Amino acid sequence: MRNETQHFDYHQVMQNYLKHLECSSCKETFPHNVAYNVCYTCGKPLFARYALEQLTDTWQPSQLKSRPNSMWRYSELLPICDPANIVSLGETVTPLIHAKKLGEQFGLPELWIKDESRLPTGSFKARGLTMAVSKAKELKIKNLAIPSAGNAATALSVYAARAGIPAYIFMPNDTPTFNIETCQLAGANLTLIDGLITDAGRIVADQKIDKGWFDVSTLKEPYRVEGKKTMGFELAEQLGWTLPDVIVYPTGGGTGIVGMWKGFAELEALGWIGKKRPRFISVQAEGCAPIVKAWKNGLSSAEPWQNAKTIASGLRVPQAIGDFLILEAIRKSGGAAIAVTDEAIGDAMHLLPTTEGILTCPEGAATVAALGKLIADNLITTSDQVVLFNTGGYQS
Ligand SMILES: *Cc1c(COP(=O)(O)O)cnc(C)c1O
Repeated sequence: MRNETQHFDYHQVMQNYLKHLECSSCKETFPHNVAYNVCYTCGKPLFARYALEQLTDTWQPSQLKSRPNSMWRYSELLPICDPANIVSLGETVTPLIHAKKLGEQFGLPELWIKDESRLPTGSFKARGLTMAVSKAKELKIKNLAIPSAGNAATALSVYAARAGIPAYIFMPNDTPTFNIETCQLAGANLTLIDGLITDAGRIVADQKIDKGWFDVSTLKEPYRVEGKKTMGFELAEQLGWTLPDVIVYPTGGGTGIVGMWKGFAELEALGWIGKKRPRFISVQAEGCAPIVKAWKNGLSSAEPWQNAKTIASGLRVPQAIGDFLILEAIRKSGGAAIAVTDEAIGDAMHLLPTTEGILTCPEGAATVAALGKLIADNLITTSDQVVLFNTGGYQS
């Protein structure tokens, strides 16, 4: 396969600016050349930190012009030290599509869709897993294990196969067939469980030491979020280094919101964007809405959701380790959190393709399903530039 990132000499541009890992809560630091999951002291997610002060004088947006149309174009702010370790399937910059007809229906002339369905495996999980598997290769990790609600498992399966690293996958037995079959096709070691992603997470946590697995649960592994933050970099670049007024994002584990929030802070530190942030609107399903409930109750962390049930499998995440980070990004950005019914998601799965020709997964459709209520509640106004994230494509 022709892999465009291999035709680009990252050595010319790529210096290693990764400094260390830092706890997102207690700020303790850890070396980046050792494999860590979460903070040893407080158990919260670790963030990669870069020598931004060294980059400020040397790196300019104009330098991106000659780079490939791939998330790897932002290599200075990515955590892979030796480009030879990059495990890529051609992660294209995803299009930002003007949804004019859909926007007219809602009175929103500036409605845009960032269409993540174009990525390898058909969802934005590819961004996180290309990064995590590349870093695992760099750190010479031998086995990877993941609890997944579906798309992360598919993405890990293919990138791990490409890297030649065995993958151990645990997911609910009612995960969409597409995800089950793709894991099998890519030769992953798949275990289907009678439970949810949180139960799968417990199995990985209990067995990983005995089995010698490295746990790549989202935000319990520091680099998937680094892949996901590139959604924010691409958006800023596509809008000429400005940010929209509103981002509407279907939220499960929250890695996308947390990643974009982190990425925007990095761009501001470099002086590439200003202080303005989009209002982050987190959309969940009524059958599993822990972040919405916490947001409505003014809490800074979320209670586990009981009996989680929704057709949007990527949103069926009863508890997220990064809950406090998601809620902080929503609060500090002046955003909100909102739940939609499965019925409304089903309707939106028709509305988006019939108006704009964009096929969507239930999770992406949830952002469309939320629009009416967001406008009625004055959380979006007609002059806002609004970007919806279609996080994956339609899968039968
Ligand atoms: C995982 C997933 C989500 C949720 O993403 P987070 O960043 O973990 O909140 C949304 N949509 C799809 C299609 C997913 O696979």
